[in-house]
Amino acid sequence: MMKKPEISFDSIPSSAVSKISLKICLKCAFDVFTKQLKLTTRTAYSELKKHVPEEVDFTSAAASRPHFLDESRLDHCPYCSGSKRWFAEFHAVRIDANPSFEKERKKLWTQLKKQPDRFALWKPARTQMQIFSEWLERLNRSLTFQNDQWLLDAAVSHIKRSEPSNHWDMILSSGVRRIQLSRPVEGSWRYEDGWLYVSPALYGDVIMVQHLLSRSHQHGGRTLEGRLTFQELHRRLRRIGYFEAKDIDPSDPYEAFEQAVAGLVDSGPSAVYYAVDRQDYLDKLKSVYEKKREK
Ligand SMILES: [Zn+2]
Repeated sequence: MMKKPEISFDSIPSSAVSKISLKICLKCAFDVFTKQLKLTTRTAYSELKKHVPEEVDFTSAAASRPHFLDESRLDHCPYCSGSKRWFAEFHAVRIDANPSFEKERKKLWTQLKKQPDRFALWKPARTQMQIFSEWLERLNRSLTFQNDQWLLDAAVSHIKRSEPSNHWDMILSSGVRRIQLSRPVEGSWRYEDGWLYVSPALYGDVIMVQHLLSRSHQHGGRTLEGRLTFQELHRRLRRIGYFEAKDIDPSDPYEAFEQAVAGLVDSGPSAVYYAVDRQDYLDKLKSVYEKKREK
């Protein structure tokens, strides 16, 4: 059989992509069919070939037998203690879609659809608010809040998200040492010698995101502008010209804050796509099946 060419996901901006791996124990998987349902190994194999985990298995700690998220690199199955030679892996690529690269996304999907056995494709229903909250959650998990580096990391993540591009790594190759509010900046940002100069609208968005991220933490409300109470945040945003730039009436702080969040949400991705690569799973499943048959 001819080997199909590898499909590259490189046309999609990396800031819009998140990758998740999910393991499955094939011993547990076969046992469900052969021991619980008393089916033959051959039937079990043909059923298992169709298997695709559900999104919830990838996205939460709720993965259930025979799946598990293997962050601690287990040697044995958490359910049956089978050794890791029984493990196979699903690789999911999640894309938070944005009109700026929708053409590339569609082209990629056309290629993936040519290998329906290997790739399971989903477009789960999401509101823009859900997509935004999930992004905040992922960001929250990826940051370490021990020192102030997270403030810069969160700022850069937001800026990359607001303008998805594959050039960011090149542009920011010498790192970001400082985010600087700059009124005369043309467009929304400019990078020079490790300093990222940003417009009031983008700077305000950054401190909004930092405030949202850190408010669940013990010393919440931390931003590039220091630790701010809600009232202080409002005053600061007002002073830097954020509400003006965003055309938000600042007179009622709560109303203004809500509108600012709505603006952040609306400017973000509006759809989520998943491609689940089953290649490793199918290969291992086949080899386990063949070994079982030899017995
Ligand atoms: Zn197991």
